[in-house]
Amino acid sequence: CLIVFEGMDGSGKSTQARRLKARLDGLSHPAVLTKEPGGTPAGARLREILLDPALPLAPEAELFLFEADRAMHVKTLLLPELRAGRTVLSDRLSFATVAYQSFGGGLSRELVSTLNEVALGGVVPDVTYLLDLPVSEMARRLRERGDGPTRFELLGGDYFERVREGYLELARIHRGRTVVLDATRDPETLEGEIFEDLARRFPGRFAT
Ligand code: C5P
Repeated sequence: CLIVFEGMDGSGKSTQARRLKARLDGLSHPAVLTKEPGGTPAGARLREILLDPALPLAPEAELFLFEADRAMHVKTLLLPELRAGRTVLSDRLSFATVAYQSFGGGLSRELVSTLNEVALGGVVPDVTYLLDLPVSEMARRLRERGDGPTRFELLGGDYFERVREGYLELARIHRGRTVVLDATRDPETLEGEIFEDLARRFPGRFAT
């Protein structure tokens, strides 16, 4: 079972992925917690390049590196774990490249979709939780966190407005397997809602 957390920087998706992992551990249902970019050793190196402000990348080059990271992630981690019957929680997957590199960065949707298809090798999330946040709130959280302003200022508010719209559009397209959550609410409430949804979606799998 593959559960994906998506959302913009500061949306709390990593917090929710960690909380769900802890909750499942507590129910003796251990899950594998992983992320993109950087979920594998090669991916960790790619992540360093992708996030290095001293290494500006051509948009296509950036996309290829995200997809290289994804191909490694899928082949060496996601597929083997899923085939072994384990529950995998991934902090980001292919929605992110559509939202950021296509809606945000302007690369063709077709190009991004084709590369996603190759990198995913047939892997489809069973459910994606999209933590949706207004861009103004995202900017506020990043300022508070102290690590975001550079990236936010570099890309600009309009960029993130488009990213958000991209995510919401993907949620509409993949309605049955995507849940949009209002990420302005407190982490406990969100955790409860996510767990309730999972329990409803997969009866018996995450016994309480
Ligand atoms: O999710 P995480 O914080 O690890 O992502 C690292 C950075 O990479 C974030 O600032 C995010 O905005 C960016 N990113 C991106 N395009 C993606 C995935 C992440 O620009 N496809």
